[in-house]
Amino acid sequence: MKRALNFNAGPAALPEAVLARAEKEMMNYQDSGMGVMELSHRSKQFEAINEVTKSLLRGLLNIPDDYEVLFLQGGASLQFTMVPMNLLEEGSAAGYVLTGTWSEKALKEAQKIGSAAAIASSKSSNYKSIPSFTEIDVHPDSSYLHITTNNTIYGTQWHDLPKKVNVPLIADMSSDILSRPLHVPSYGLIYAGAQKNLGPSGVTVVIIQKDLLKRSRPDLPSMLNYQVHADSKSLYNTPPTLSVYFLMLVLEWAESIGGVKQLELQNKEKASLLYDAIDSSDGFYKGHAEKESRSLMNITYTLENEDLTSTFLHEAEKSGFIGLAGHRSVGGCRASIYNAVPTEHVEKLAKFMNDFRLRN
Ligand code: PMP
Repeated sequence: MKRALNFNAGPAALPEAVLARAEKEMMNYQDSGMGVMELSHRSKQFEAINEVTKSLLRGLLNIPDDYEVLFLQGGASLQFTMVPMNLLEEGSAAGYVLTGTWSEKALKEAQKIGSAAAIASSKSSNYKSIPSFTEIDVHPDSSYLHITTNNTIYGTQWHDLPKKVNVPLIADMSSDILSRPLHVPSYGLIYAGAQKNLGPSGVTVVIIQKDLLKRSRPDLPSMLNYQVHADSKSLYNTPPTLSVYFLMLVLEWAESIGGVKQLELQNKEKASLLYDAIDSSDGFYKGHAEKESRSLMNITYTLENEDLTSTFLHEAEKSGFIGLAGHRSVGGCRASIYNAVPTEHVEKLAKFMNDFRLRN
């Protein structure tokens, strides 16, 4: 069967091997006579899936023992609320670095919970870059500093971390988790919705330093309390069993191809195919992001005018490319090339871009 040339921003392409395995196990998971989604979440089989998935993630991202791994629901958007609800301490404020729509939303939700403010922002340049670290001056009494490591809509990414942050660093890694090696001890908490690099939608990964769990007040609603989820090993209520199972399959696939170092190599190769098509186009394609802030996951670019953009998108669609329209807030085009997008699909897109330019 021919697979689509899928450049969707999320939900996004999944590894073919993962889909094939899920198909094979659909009716009968490990001789249970049931599909995974028919298993009780209290069954031995599902408990094993839950534990194996956690330990695969621990292995791949080198997560130290003093961190808890949680599988939650509500998407990254619920983390915009849970982070301040659990971690924003009375009498203290939280700092947010604004690098796009998602960090703006994270800040807005935090301000409903307590005191939170933008301490740096690249909004004035239409989020073309990550603010310079000299701008990031976080007050030492702050509860935490929040960043968005990859900006899905604008196509920018943090390639380094601010050095002198003496408060817990909280990162929304929804669109770049598992795309490159990660130094977990630099962070207090990491969160990511699964539907880009980790699996289908429905499960949200939270990696939290155990010390920070002490901040979760017992009077918080149970479902919004990190400590409750940690105590119950992410089985406080019925988890999204099918999504967790898919997460396990994606992590097994990632491990089988050589882990995050290999994924980073592939991602760099894929991104450079498209950035080369942009940079060698004599201005026919213009990258939205400044070069030093370019994302390896979401490649954003514009063409000279709206007519040419819509011709490009129309012809791309006719040639089988899916999901290339830019987000409505930026316009232009966006190619999302997460871990599971095959290099040959990106090669085809680069070729299409070059051919389209020569024709126009
Ligand atoms: N943060 C980032 C960086 C995202 O890209 C997205 C979704 N595209 C979100 C947060 C929101 O995620 P969800 O839809 O899982 O709530």
